[in-house]
Amino acid sequence: MAQNVIEVKKVSKSFGGVKANVDITMAVRKGSITGIIGPNGCGKSTLFNSIVGYHPIDTGSIKFEGQEISHLRVGDIARLGMLRTFQQTRIYTKMDCVDNMQISVSQRPGSNSTMFASRKGEIRERAEHLLEFVGLYSKRNLISGDLSFGQQKLLEFAMALMNEPKVLLLDEPTAGINPTLINGLINRLQRANEELGITLCVIEHNMRVIMNLASHIYCLSNGKMLADGKPEKLQNDPRVVDAYLGGH
Ligand code: ADP
Ligand code: MG
Repeated sequence: MAQNVIEVKKVSKSFGGVKANVDITMAVRKGSITGIIGPNGCGKSTLFNSIVGYHPIDTGSIKFEGQEISHLRVGDIARLGMLRTFQQTRIYTKMDCVDNMQISVSQRPGSNSTMFASRKGEIRERAEHLLEFVGLYSKRNLISGDLSFGQQKLLEFAMALMNEPKVLLLDEPTAGINPTLINGLINRLQRANEELGITLCVIEHNMRVIMNLASHIYCLSNGKMLADGKPEKLQNDPRVVDAYLGGH
């Protein structure tokens, strides 16, 4: 039977009077690319924040590889092998790409400067290899602030890969990217899933992207789980169509 790497059960999270997530239940199968869609403000990023321990949840259960993690914080969960990227890129714009890659390891929770110094050569080699993987090898010595926004997103993705996650949560990876770069990014995400064996959970606004990428999709609306299923099924679900048209 397929194994779930993430299991979210009846999770709720409010901010003051705002019920950002209400009774959310979902699962991510090991090895899959799972999608999360829904109109702006429906609670997608909040759900990611809850899963990776960015804030405590009000009620419910979150399991990673069968272990309850809802009481753990970001660093502990990162050490277990689950990381997220953000809607806004978080790179050091005054540093070059290789340095950004290296610093993402030195800042990894649980890493220390002695370990970092002793593994410096290996880390640099890995940085260059992964920059090649995302198609940025020729830009490796450029200041990252000079890259296009789409290239910065690819760099951020490569930085996450530096930490060898088992599961990577990506928050709107294609948002703001030049359409000509989107197919390249989709391809990199698929290769990370197939070749590096990383389970991906992707919040995505662009329906075409998520339909191509994900094997299973969850749709949120107003903080609640509205529907889930295979892309073909969701695409034709009137509730999903309504939520999308209503939300834009
Ligand atoms: P999405 O990612 O689907 O656009 P969010 O999860 O960012 O939605 O937001 C869901 C709701 O929770 C929104 O009403 C938003 O304003 C609110 N919210 C999210 N984070 C916070 C926060 N840290 N403090 C207060 N309200 C928040
Ligand atoms: Mg969001």
